[in-house]
Order: sequence, then C-alpha cells, then structure tokens
Amino acid sequence: MDFRIRTFTPIWTGDVKRESIKFRDTSIIGSLRWWFEAIVRGLGGYACDSVGEEKRKLDVEKYKKGNKPEELICPVCYVFGTTGWSKRFRLEIDGELNRLPFVIVKADERKGHRGWFLGTRESGGLMGTSEVKVYGDSWIKNVLALSLNVSCYWGVGATTILENTNSSIPKYSIYLQIYFTLKKPHFSKDDDEFYIIDNPIIKDKVFKLPMVRPTMWKGALRFAAIKVFEDWIYEKLNESRIDKETVFKERARIAKLFGNEKDSQKDYLGRLCLLAIGGDLPTGEKLRKEIEKINKEFEKWLTDKKYVSKEVPSRSGRLFFYPTFFEEISLDVITPLSRETKTPVRGPIYFETVEGSKGTKSIFRLLYYPFDLIARGEFDEIEKEMKEDLKFLAKALKKMFYEIGFSAKKSSGFGVVEPINDNDVKVDGFKSDEVKDILLNTIHQS
Ligand SMILES: [Zn+2]
Repeated sequence: MDFRIRTFTPIWTGDVKRESIKFRDTSIIGSLRWWFEAIVRGLGGYACDSVGEEKRKLDVEKYKKGNKPEELICPVCYVFGTTGWSKRFRLEIDGELNRLPFVIVKADERKGHRGWFLGTRESGGLMGTSEVKVYGDSWIKNVLALSLNVSCYWGVGATTILENTNSSIPKYSIYLQIYFTLKKPHFSKDDDEFYIIDNPIIKDKVFKLPMVRPTMWKGALRFAAIKVFEDWIYEKLNESRIDKETVFKERARIAKLFGNEKDSQKDYLGRLCLLAIGGDLPTGEKLRKEIEKINKEFEKWLTDKKYVSKEVPSRSGRLFFYPTFFEEISLDVITPLSRETKTPVRGPIYFETVEGSKGTKSIFRLLYYPFDLIARGEFDEIEKEMKEDLKFLAKALKKMFYEIGFSAKKSSGFGVVEPINDNDVKVDGFKSDEVKDILLNTIHQS
C-alpha cells in the first residue's frame, strides 16, 4: 500500500541547521495509532491506555504456553506493537520536507520578541510531500488505510494543528473550536501546606511545543461535568427530592459524553444520587452499602436503556478531544511556605507556565460524535439528544474555563480563561447555528 502525505501547515523540527529533513516514521505511526485507538473505542471496542501506566505488556509466559497474542493484548497493541510484541507492519518513507525560505515562524526562536515574525531561511518551517510505503498483511493494511483516512479528515493525529475542517465532518457530528486566552495562574496562599507542583502543560515529543494533552482536557471537562451534575442536584433539592429515573437520566449524560465512569468517581456520583433521592445521607457502613446498591442499580439501568451493551461493557464517550498547543512559555517560581511558620519549607521551585495575557489565543477543540445513536439507526433521536447533550456540555465547559481551570489541582487557578466572546466560538457540522446559540447562551448566562 502506498500513500502520499503533504503537509498543509509548516512543521518545525527544532533542527534549524538542516535544509531538508525526512518525515519521521514515528510521527506518522504515532498519529495512525492515535486514530486507530479512537476508532476502536468509538465502535465500543476495548483499547488499552497506551500513554498511561495501564499500558499492556504481552505476557510472555502465557504466550509461550500457546495463548494467542490477540487474547493477551488489545487490537491497537496487536497492530502497533507493545512491550514484548512488535508492530505488524513496516513503513518506508521517501521524499523530504524542505525548509521554506520565508515564512512566519515562532517567536521563541528569537528572544524578546512576542507573537510571530517573518523568518529567514534558517528559521523557516518545513513543508513538502512524502511517499509512504506500507508492508504487512492485507487486513493490517486495511486497518492502517482506515486510520489514515480518518486522520486526513481530522489532521494527522495528535501532533498536527488542524485548521480547515468545514468540508469534511462526519454526518451528525459537531466540531467545536473555542479560542481562549489564559488568565495568569494564581496560587492561593491558604490552600495547602505545600504548593504541589502542578503543571498540566507538557511538551509534545515531536515538535517540543508546550501542549495540553487530549486526556488532560478530557479529565478536566469530566470533572467539571460532575460538578454540573452536583449543582443541578443542589438546585433541585431546594424545591423537592428528585426521583430515581430523573437522577439516573442526568447522571447518564456524563457516561454518554465521556464514556465509562472512572472507579474513583463512582463513589462520589453514587453519593450524589443518594442525596438527590433521599434528601440526606446515611452514615458509616450503611452509607457504603447504599452507595454500592445505587451504583449497581444505575449500571443495570444503563444496560436496560442500551447505553451500555452487555457484550461490550466498556463504553466510549461521544466526545473526542484534541491537543492544544501553546506558543509561548515562560518560567515561574514559587517558594513553598509552611502554613504554621510561614517560612520556606524548601528552596524555590521553578516551573514552566504559558503566558496568558499577551493576546495570543490558543484553541480548544472538541468533536461531538453520537456514534452510538448512528450505529443504532436512531436518527430521529439524534437532534433531541444532541441538544440536551450540548446544553449539559456547555455548562461543563463554562465551569471548566471560568471556575475550575484544566489543571489537576483544582485550587491552583491554573487554566482559567479570560471571558469568551461570540467570535471565539466556532461550530461546524450538524445544526451548527443552533448549536452555537445553545453554547453561547449557556456560556453568557450569569
Ligand atoms: Zn493495547
């Protein structure tokens, strides 16, 4: 199988000395893997967490005893390899990317300059076309062709900035972009004994740009969604208790959008359900048992409503996240103080932050794709569900961007943004005008 890759935005490699460079196979394979994983999960299948610590190794002992590798690792690891198992294909790349003589380049290559500037031959980005040959079994090549097709619609995976999408969004899906400016992070003084280093900005491996990973966005928005659910319960409880069906319906929105509940969040969500239905909570051992009971009931309810199938208990969410890249990075310093003595408990800690107040905007991107309704052929349902999902999503976005931020340590104030204007929100796809109205109305609501 042969295919051709053409860059449509310049690529910076950090290697300024070279006039031309080959497209890296690791970056192509990385993005194909990223998309194959998304496809597998999108279809309700299981793919292990290839970046997290859950990454599956091939159990060599079991393999030697005759277990098939398909039974020991997930389909993504099977095709792309994992510890103890090599990938099932080979890539050959032909053609080089050439450095552009005059292009707009990143400021961080020239100190004291903000934003972008017109670069010289040495600082220009790389562009070009590469021919890629793939060798492997035919079904593997089909898998790669599928992933490649999707990645061409949606950008070359996790490492390329995607700008033009209006023409090629899958039917019934919504592609949302929010341009935002970070507020300067603040650290509340009375919060913790030690200020824990809490920096969600990491650098992407290929291009060394500061970035927020898709998983980080997902975690932060999911957390915000749980808080929206909590707010909803407290608001309702002002009037009356809430019946079980209504609570479950609302709780299910989180699973529909984000996929299976995390074990660590089930307890909290169960507690909230009990509170909503009963008006208060039992204590001690009784509380633990009741949480377990209501969570079991909720799981059964999800299966009865076909939100989760019996055959495939792991459920993917309807939201797909993209990385965000930042252009400017600077160094901040904090000195942890003891709460009692107000004296430093250790030396200063330096860490990188992203400059927020210089007027450059970053992009948060999200795909809403109700694949489960589409797969079940429930087209009449889509519009209704989409609107309900979107209202809930908009509340979660507002909570994340304005109140909580996208940092793992919620009290740090890291990742809270400046007010979002109408022009900062772009929506493409299904019913885009209505969707935009729903989002903006919710975000502007006080
Ligand atoms: Zn895997």
